[in-house]
Amino acid sequence: MTQKIARFLSDHQPATPCLVVDVDRVEGNFRRLRRALPLARVYYAVKANPAAPILERLVGLDSSFDAASIEEIRDCLAAGAKPEAISFGNTVKKASAIVEAYAAGVRMFAFDSEAELDKLARLAPGSRVYCRLLVENDGAEWPLSRKFGTSVDMARELMVEAAARGLDPYGLSFHVGSQQTRTNSYEAAIGKVAMLFTDLAEAGVNLRMVNLGGGFPIRYDQEVPGIDTFATAIMGAMTRHFGNALPEMVIEPGRFLVGDAGVVSAEVVLVSRKSANDPVRWVYLDIGRFGGLAETEGEAVKYRMSTPHDGSAAGPVVIAGPTCDGADIMYERSNYRLPTALACGDRIELHDTGAYVTTYASQRFNGFAPLAEHYI
Ligand SMILES: *Cc1c(COP(=O)(O)O)cnc(C)c1O
Repeated sequence: MTQKIARFLSDHQPATPCLVVDVDRVEGNFRRLRRALPLARVYYAVKANPAAPILERLVGLDSSFDAASIEEIRDCLAAGAKPEAISFGNTVKKASAIVEAYAAGVRMFAFDSEAELDKLARLAPGSRVYCRLLVENDGAEWPLSRKFGTSVDMARELMVEAAARGLDPYGLSFHVGSQQTRTNSYEAAIGKVAMLFTDLAEAGVNLRMVNLGGGFPIRYDQEVPGIDTFATAIMGAMTRHFGNALPEMVIEPGRFLVGDAGVVSAEVVLVSRKSANDPVRWVYLDIGRFGGLAETEGEAVKYRMSTPHDGSAAGPVVIAGPTCDGADIMYERSNYRLPTALACGDRIELHDTGAYVTTYASQRFNGFAPLAEHYI
């Protein structure tokens, strides 16, 4: 937790549950990433946290934006982003969304299928398009499965067709899965992209851009390789495969920019046991799976927690949310331990919750209000 957040929490004691984000930390992360990969243009993946203070700060830093929906595009424009700095990166777009984005001046679109290419050719003529490849997500703690991307063979055909239909065949993209802890996932994907660049050049289609997606990890319960390690691996693979003819590079970080800039402050609602001599306590918080902690699904992301009793004796706990839904249990198998002194009414902080939390909060499920947010 940054000092600024610690001071805000102790000075203001804001009502819980709430997320507090240190926007200076977002800026620090952005600068660190740009120093590590100076040749790559940063398109912030807005879905990680679309709050206006974050978008505005990033506009001021000359960031570009990867938007998943027309709503996110509107948010970026409202924050002052130029339409040229926005990529409509979802490969699944409503026709009406494409029409509105194009009318607003957005000219960069992702796709991974014939039917989507057809929409773009009709509704966004002349735009720069890039095709998303299906790549391995091994090593990612929050994988994106087979939902997005297409095979190399189909991408080849689609890019040839894009050129023939009056679109600008700009490049290729991939996403190695979120919270990706292995550098070789990027290296393997870059090799795949480079082969397709060569194939397409032979077919007369000269691509100019490689979009390496997001996935850069942050530290939750485990150490992860630093951003410099990823940058070195990526630049090594790019030079190995493209030599002196390096294409434009795009990265779409989400989690890396905002994850460690946020802390959720919550309240312990109840501490109980299922039987008198059961060593395991059940700790119920005023935030849970439906209050925004969706990435605890499968106990995939393990947030660190701190309490007023840290340093004293601790024991095993199951940690659950406040709703009446049986799925609203965050951690049952991950061997979490919390101080034995923990009691109803204590405050508890969940660290590194700046990404993929606020927007996952449900609308009044069980009557609970969506997560409050403070940007400082
Ligand atoms: C979600 C997403 C990102 C951001 O991923 P992170 O793992 O948060 O960096 C980037 N690009 C696309 C296309 C995405 O869907």
